[in-house]
Amino acid sequence: MQAKLLQGKELSQKIQEEIAIKVQELKAKGGRAPHLAAVLVGNDGASETYVSHKVKACERVGFKSTLLRYSDTISEGELLAVVDELNENDDIDGFIVQLPLPKHIDMAKVIEQISPKKDVDGFHPINFGRMAANMPAYVPATPDGIIEILKRYKIETRGTHVVVVGRSQIVGTPVSILLSRAAYPGDATVTLCHRHTKDLADYTRQADILVVATGIPGMIKGDMVKKGVVVIDVGITRVADTSKQSGFTLKGDVDFDEVAPKASYITPVPGGVGPMTIASLLKNTYLASQKAIYRN
Ligand code: NDP
Repeated sequence: MQAKLLQGKELSQKIQEEIAIKVQELKAKGGRAPHLAAVLVGNDGASETYVSHKVKACERVGFKSTLLRYSDTISEGELLAVVDELNENDDIDGFIVQLPLPKHIDMAKVIEQISPKKDVDGFHPINFGRMAANMPAYVPATPDGIIEILKRYKIETRGTHVVVVGRSQIVGTPVSILLSRAAYPGDATVTLCHRHTKDLADYTRQADILVVATGIPGMIKGDMVKKGVVVIDVGITRVADTSKQSGFTLKGDVDFDEVAPKASYITPVPGGVGPMTIASLLKNTYLASQKAIYRN
């Protein structure tokens, strides 16, 4: 058996085309383009890349975007004031504060300061709680992208055993909540594993659907999965590679060469979950512009 690739890149392009059409329709009716703002603190290379992808994606679908850059010497109080201004600015539908933040800034405090109505990253506890309660909410972009992949490839989740490896607040935990909800995709029995899980392979071998988000390149080997498993590899780690002009290659958390021959479906890295994250952020911003989650 050779797994079918879950082509997140193609799917993301399709979703972006769908959003672009909606934006054209909005503008044709005299409406204004959705507007996303991104706050970038410091000069972290990966964060710069992520934010520039998000800004470019906004341009592609016809959104307005604003990038606000601050030095990593910005104080917590000053950053909270920036968030307040964005909360109050009626021209901005949604905004994100790119993580990680410098150590002297309390990330949780900044996230809590963001108005849930403009929290298109879905990190605010109110959105997290609404998501868990199966109420309309901004769902964090990466988990939402995973749900969208399962939906668009019509992968059955009801009654399956989903094993999620990694329990971060932005990936593993929300994925586990979403797939255990009474919904589609959902209705699964979910096991959430982390670094204290004893004999991880015992669990991963039971998975009908395996979601891995640890940041440990290649940790899931061929003998850790059963035949026919659906594999969602969230990990993206830069691994040194002198044969590449960039000096690195991107590796997932799953040993693709060993696992793909046993799987029924698998996401490639890159080109799987990563591009879906952008599509979901755009989707959330569009929803914010239409006040689709919160009425006022
Ligand atoms: P975090 O570092 O926040 O979380 C990693 C999780 O993995 C933790 O819950 C940790 O457990 C768990 N873990 C670590 N080692 C083991 C182990 N040996 N066995 C089982 N579990 C383990 O990472 P993120 O969730 O933020 O990101 C994970 C990966 O996904 C990274 O490569 C990141 O770059 C990528 N990512 C990709 C995105 C995309 O768009 N495709 C978006 C976001 C992230 P514990 O809680 O016990 O410490």
